[in-house]
Amino acid sequence: MARGPGKQSGRQDTPGVASMPRVRVLLPLPLAGAYDYRLPPKGAPRPGEFVVVPLNQRETIGVVWDAEQEPDERPVPDHRLRPVLEILPAPPMTESLRRFVDWVAAYTLSPPGAVLRMAMSVPAALEPPTPQAGWTLAEPGANHRPRLTPERRRVLDAMAPGEVYAGAALAEVAKVSLSVLRGMADAGLIRPALLPRRPRFARPDPDHPGPALSGAQVGAAATLRARVSARRFGVTLLTGVTGSGKTEVYLDAVAEALRQGRQALVLLPEIALSAQWLDRFRARFGVAPALWHSEIGSRTRRDTWRAVAEGEAPVVVGARSALFLPFPDLGLVVVDEEHETAFKQEDGVVYNARDMAVVRARLAGAACVLVSATPSLETLTNAETGRYAALHLPQRHGGARLPSVEAVDLRAAPPERGRFLSPPLIAAAGEALARGEQAMLFLNRRGYAPLTLCRTCGHRLRCPNCTAWLVEHRAQRRLQCHHCGHAEPVPAECPECGHAGTLAAVGPGVERVMEEARTLWPEARVLVMASDSIPGPAAAAAAAQSIQDRAVDLIIGTQIVAKGWHFPHLTLVGVVDADLGLAGGDLRAAERTVQLLHQVAGRAGRAEAPGRVLLQTFSPEHPVMKALVGGDLDAFMREEAAMRRPGGWPPFGRLAALIVSSEEEREADRVARDLGLAAPGGEGVQVLGPAPAPLAMLRGRHRRRLLLKTRRDIAVQPILREWLGRVEVPGSVRVQVDVDPVGFL
Ligand code: ADP
Ligand code: ZN
Repeated sequence: MARGPGKQSGRQDTPGVASMPRVRVLLPLPLAGAYDYRLPPKGAPRPGEFVVVPLNQRETIGVVWDAEQEPDERPVPDHRLRPVLEILPAPPMTESLRRFVDWVAAYTLSPPGAVLRMAMSVPAALEPPTPQAGWTLAEPGANHRPRLTPERRRVLDAMAPGEVYAGAALAEVAKVSLSVLRGMADAGLIRPALLPRRPRFARPDPDHPGPALSGAQVGAAATLRARVSARRFGVTLLTGVTGSGKTEVYLDAVAEALRQGRQALVLLPEIALSAQWLDRFRARFGVAPALWHSEIGSRTRRDTWRAVAEGEAPVVVGARSALFLPFPDLGLVVVDEEHETAFKQEDGVVYNARDMAVVRARLAGAACVLVSATPSLETLTNAETGRYAALHLPQRHGGARLPSVEAVDLRAAPPERGRFLSPPLIAAAGEALARGEQAMLFLNRRGYAPLTLCRTCGHRLRCPNCTAWLVEHRAQRRLQCHHCGHAEPVPAECPECGHAGTLAAVGPGVERVMEEARTLWPEARVLVMASDSIPGPAAAAAAAQSIQDRAVDLIIGTQIVAKGWHFPHLTLVGVVDADLGLAGGDLRAAERTVQLLHQVAGRAGRAEAPGRVLLQTFSPEHPVMKALVGGDLDAFMREEAAMRRPGGWPPFGRLAALIVSSEEEREADRVARDLGLAAPGGEGVQVLGPAPAPLAMLRGRHRRRLLLKTRRDIAVQPILREWLGRVEVPGSVRVQVDVDPVGFL
């Protein structure tokens, strides 16, 4: 796909038309394939080099590209070719990252430029770092001079000959002001000099004494180390119950990558919650790793990107976007909690970072480790067919036992009217608190109540932009839409019938459970953990610390409490609504509910005191509840597989969703209908829909869905490309392609 910056496209060595030497440059723009440019006077840039090129009236940075060319394109004539203006002095993008960009683009049906943009998210990092000035001793022996003020003497005492010191640091050590330093320079005692560039991230020491591994850990770690030192691509699934010590095992693989002189990348689903993980890393390696996620500041971003490119960030822990960092020599990619849906990016380029991590590792010749106590059926199936190797840790570390899990039948033991905690759960939590232990109530719903309804006319308050109820947040006295962010004050009267004081909250969110808990246990110190009360990494770290320090007795939280935490004093977990995730027609609803509730349950009893988990449910006989109570998740997953296999549902077949959306309902309908009429068919290919999406309106756009389902041996991308090519889509309509959809809203 080569186009010129003008209208024409392509490169072909047609004499006379395109004889001038040219170079192809991919630009980080969603509309672009690679464009042809004239070579700069200084000679041809190599593939991967970052170059400045003209585009329309401006200049932009792109990458010299070398992907396969489509043969039938018309070249840009010589006279229209514009020159490459500058080659930037940044480390070129590696071949493996270039091929990764191409691969992700082809797999997700995104323009390569849109994927490139993710790999060039920090343009400032492409400029060379400006050297920093500091101070050095003007002449050796200067500090033997008599008649120095005490301040100046302190400065000279703090300096060694030949060393360069940053002004601020030197002033601080010598306890003087910066003007003292300037005065000393004027007096010829010290002189300015450039600071040496130091590695921005200290090298983690692979041989730093970490915890001694237990028997099962030793074996698993040895296998992983061997896979890393083989310096070849291969995927290993590392499983084991919550608390079995999987983290310590894969950190040993990270150590091996370091010994090999290669880089390691660890992806976490919820990087904001990584405080405890970072503590473990520091305990194992003596220093912190480089961090990469959306909330790091722009300066750190630039430094980190550059450090990664220059091989000076040996270990990066990050969110999914870290996959696009410019590692020159990646030796290991770890995906922790590989089953997490948070690895799926739903906007822009729609991709699953877990799957793309495997591709990134393959293209880099790196080992890949997928880690989970409850692996996805996709990954389990890959392990069963031998595509992935598998390692298993059978027991909790240090003799801690898995918690006992019981279902509370809400039909037999209902909560009081207008309440949400059943007598058995109230009793169990009360006992734990009375013993001085911690308890946790889990409800995956933010706010006070998910629905507000008029008791007189039955009117329900809904979002003006989305097919969704407004959620009451009582502390802020607002109603919020959790899909588009719309917020409004709680009205005093029903907007429909005008009666005052008739609006009633229906159902619980974490705030309402907190209200109930306060009346039950007025003495208990309660902490609510939800994404709105724990907005970022610092807040999460503080919350975790207060729990570890036992400054909290009762934790009430949404899914953010499920992930990875180690709370040794927590012995009781109550799941307020275990049925919550099972509603709706989602293909993976049962699998996901098991994974989430197993994770939540795994927070209990991680130290000496045994843990207990109560699941409040209206259907204790449901296979999900039985799997959790019986603890036989393997059997559950086998049944899941048996249910999906006959219909050819993933992972036994392939899916791709098309989401048609427009502010004009009729336009959305028309394009959806046209897509339906043009639907591909044939052996092993099926199209479901069009149908209104469950979220039929989102942010003011009307949405329709179609689902392409193919046999496993049929790739969806060529079918999708051809299909989309047959249908005219006006500018007012967007058709989003979601290959391997995870959400079905
Ligand atoms: P998982 O990742 O399997 O849920 P973790 O790696 O979090 O399990 O380990 C559970 C707990 O056991 C953590 O507190 C961890 O620090 C501790 N632990 C694991 N392995 C060891 C070890 N070899 N020595 C000491 N503590 C360990
Ligand atoms: Zn909304």
